[in-house]
Amino acid sequence: MAKILILGGGTTGLTAGLLLARDDHEVELLEVDAGPVPGGPGGAWKAWARDGVVQFRQPHYLQPRGRALYGEELPEVLEALEDARALRFTALSAMPPTITDRAPRPGDDRFETLTARRPMLEQAIARVAASQTGLTVRRGVRATGVLARRGAIGVPYVRGVATADGEHLEADLVVDAMGRRSPMAAWLRQIGVVVPEWSEDAGFMYYSRFFRSTGGGLPAFRAPLNTPLGSITILTLPADDGTWSVTVYGLAGDRAIKRLRHASCFDAVVAACPAHAHWLDGEPITDVLPMAGVLDRRRRLTEGGRPLVTGVALVGDAWACTNPSLGRGLTLGLLHARLLRDVARTGVADPHAFARAWDEATERELGPWYADTVEQDRAAVRAMEAARAGWTLSAPGTVAAALRTAVSHDADAFRLLVANRACWTTMREGLSDRATAARIRQVARDHEPVQPPGPSRQRLLGLLAEPLAA
Ligand SMILES: Cc1cc2nc3c(=O)[nH]c(=O)nc-3n(C[C@H](O)[C@H](O)[C@H](O)COP(=O)(O)OP(=O)(O)OC[C@H]3O[C@@H](n4cnc5c(N)ncnc54)[C@H](O)[C@@H]3O)c2cc1C
Repeated sequence: MAKILILGGGTTGLTAGLLLARDDHEVELLEVDAGPVPGGPGGAWKAWARDGVVQFRQPHYLQPRGRALYGEELPEVLEALEDARALRFTALSAMPPTITDRAPRPGDDRFETLTARRPMLEQAIARVAASQTGLTVRRGVRATGVLARRGAIGVPYVRGVATADGEHLEADLVVDAMGRRSPMAAWLRQIGVVVPEWSEDAGFMYYSRFFRSTGGGLPAFRAPLNTPLGSITILTLPADDGTWSVTVYGLAGDRAIKRLRHASCFDAVVAACPAHAHWLDGEPITDVLPMAGVLDRRRRLTEGGRPLVTGVALVGDAWACTNPSLGRGLTLGLLHARLLRDVARTGVADPHAFARAWDEATERELGPWYADTVEQDRAAVRAMEAARAGWTLSAPGTVAAALRTAVSHDADAFRLLVANRACWTTMREGLSDRATAARIRQVARDHEPVQPPGPSRQRLLGLLAEPLAA
């Protein structure tokens, strides 16, 4: 079996490490952050220093397909999550009251997840990884560059990495799981490889706040998890141990919403949204956490199907990261980690064959998810820009537009949207069946769109202009 070096001990790197070690590979994982994995969930939330992941304390929701993957491959992670008081939650509980057909359907369990705040999620995976035979996790070790030589097909072959402590570590395969800020492209440039990269900035700014229940349990869903309200969108994410987060996001160019970083403005705006105001009914456990500059970006190590470099695989956010409005990055990273395990089963001994197989599998399995996310982001940006400018966008005659109306009236249309959010089916797959598409169009023709209530643009600007509370 192969010697595999994984760079980065986030959720993707740890999961890849576990899966590869269980396939009898010898796996060494380097994580730059030195902090040991805390013993309990309290320590993970308050004290775990994870400077390598800027979004570590931002809201995170594990999509149902991510939960299912752990159930199939690594049930111990789900047990560790249960120990950390993760929340069992079904996305069907956010079904709008306008849908009267509440009959269960076969396969509804695919909408269930077990979710928690990011530090607890990662701690659960890290605890399982720490006791995995064949996997050595070394914390506090920074990889600083690749060791390369000319490969058999005339392109560089990465045979290992250098570390900040001066070590030279050799491996049959180097896995880049260093996240959205991965330096791998810069390292490869030093050995003459220009990595093709595509990026765009959807340009969202996020303002989030965490709350803990004061006895009443999780607030009821009176609107979808992700509710567009004109020039802003509200995202309500349930989490572990009676906690949840509320995020308000809008366009980075929308200067007025920058005042959302002040708790009194944030609370005033959420309070002005009748279907969301009750999410403030808890004890705030953080201040408002702002986040911006989150690009959609993907990379490839091939050109025209030919590898530009071999011996290295990009995985998770290091391959492609998207802005988090659909909350899929964790789950797509886990799917990618499993795909890596599967492609490695066909062998890593021939670096050229592996590089081609990895690229093909990634583009086939994960590429459509990247495209799906970017397409939905672009539509959200158009809608927010129109709301900000006071324009009414004429609804395009597409089935995707019809779905936006149908999800409020038809239980199966709602499931189709949730299956997309949960990372089961891309929009393209979900809407490809002609009978389904026809039915969605019919529901949309028979009903008016339902818009959850929120402040007008003028009222929003008024709320944001109010003096700050002392
Ligand atoms: C604001 C925000 C909210 C999000 N919310 C959600 C959500 O609700 N649901 C969801 O599914 N996704 C969400 N995401 C996306 C999610 O955070 C990422 O997709 C996920 O963290 C990717 O995991 P990863 O392991 O690939 O990378 P990361 O988690 O970034 O891990 C990379 C690791 O590499 C290490 N590293 C970096 N450089 C080196 C080096 N030189 N040597 C050694 N180690 C190194 C880092 O320390 C880090 O531990 C969100 C993202 C953002 C920005």
